[in-house]
Amino acid sequence: MKVKIGLEVHAYLNVEKIKTKLFCPCKVNYQEAEPNTNICPRCTGMPGAKPMLPNKEAVDRALAIALMLDCQIPTEPVLFQRKHYDWPDMPYGYQKTMSGSYSVPTGVKGEFNGVGIWQVHIEEDPAKWDPQTGRVDYNRAGVPLVEIVTAPDLKSADQARLWIRQLITTLSYIKAIQKDAGIKADVNVSIEGHPRVEVKNVNSFKSICRAIEYELLRQQEALKEGKQMLSETRMFHDKTQTTRHMRFKETAEEYMFIPEPDLPAILIDTTTISKIKDELPESSVKKVQRLTKEYKLSREDALVIASDLQLANLFEVLVKKVRPDIVVRWLRRDLLKYLYYDKRTLEDVNIDANSLLELLELVQEKKITDNTAKDILLKLIKGPLSPKSYVKEHGLKVVNDLQVLKGVCKEVVEENERAVQDYLSGEEKALHFLMGKVMAKTKGTATPREVTEIIKKLIK
Ligand SMILES: [Zn+2]
Repeated sequence: MKVKIGLEVHAYLNVEKIKTKLFCPCKVNYQEAEPNTNICPRCTGMPGAKPMLPNKEAVDRALAIALMLDCQIPTEPVLFQRKHYDWPDMPYGYQKTMSGSYSVPTGVKGEFNGVGIWQVHIEEDPAKWDPQTGRVDYNRAGVPLVEIVTAPDLKSADQARLWIRQLITTLSYIKAIQKDAGIKADVNVSIEGHPRVEVKNVNSFKSICRAIEYELLRQQEALKEGKQMLSETRMFHDKTQTTRHMRFKETAEEYMFIPEPDLPAILIDTTTISKIKDELPESSVKKVQRLTKEYKLSREDALVIASDLQLANLFEVLVKKVRPDIVVRWLRRDLLKYLYYDKRTLEDVNIDANSLLELLELVQEKKITDNTAKDILLKLIKGPLSPKSYVKEHGLKVVNDLQVLKGVCKEVVEENERAVQDYLSGEEKALHFLMGKVMAKTKGTATPREVTEIIKKLIK
């Protein structure tokens, strides 16, 4: 049975310069603010209140998203529609949206990572309504949302999960959406030749996958039993991780879409489009492809490096002078691990690329040991430092002179007769003890492998 899965991904647009709602001057602050403190007659739907022109930054961000996803930008003016429905979270009785049959969205006919993009459009978020208490918080009413509608090109829950991850990574490159505000998705699942089922309001990566898995199984079982599938809207339940019938699919007529008479159509001029285009970075998908090809990285390494634009940029600065395998190893194994333990991001620590380059050059030239390099890296995360000067000041350069190293090993062997005897009688641990003594005398600047070899030769 051929499976068709499409997604409607909703995310909050990042309006960091013009920090206001889509159609009024109220602040976008619905997470921390006390309920109903960022409101005005416009976003609470008071009689006679008219919307202001849409927040320009929100429109530009949505255009950047559309371009990043290879969409075409309509040449005719973009149009908002009224999508009618009566619900306590929507005081006007309609939502202003670029979706609907007569609207002109910010982008159409795109493609991202093998999946068609039908459209990218803006809409206002409804208020937050609590059905238990009946309370409505209008802080969220009118906050700018972007919706990305895909073609039903996805084939499995796993593919959908990976695809959304790449999408979020790519959108974070252009800081177009608020990553920490989370995403919501409506998931369309159908089996070819049968009606489409829409699962509404799925709120996390995990739930999106679970909703798809559950729906596929449910529909396949039903068809096997000879039941007929119906075009319906279902609700995902987080608690039971299942979907439940909500209503039979509404049609566009039921929403009575009409063009919003209080807002003019907005012509997106070509200068704006080319300006946004010029500033767009390469997408994460293209970056992964390029990193594997250009630097011979494994796909897994490339995915990690490309997961954060700042990390990817840092990688490309470092590989100008240091071998890619060394750079990847130090970024993945050490830098990311330290940041992870500290619960910080690369953006938080703002590590100096030149200092890191200096450090990795010392590693590449084998002038310092891995342990010394790790210590210096930890210091670099805390603040600026010149690794070269630090190594010089503290005498941390690797003992390259074999004669000097042999001399130190000889001293240690002579001073620790008992450990030598223990090793000779088969106690491996004694060798570590001796090595520790050599390391202490050389301030950790000797290479462990070399020390082991010398000691072994000395006491045999
Ligand atoms: Zn307002």
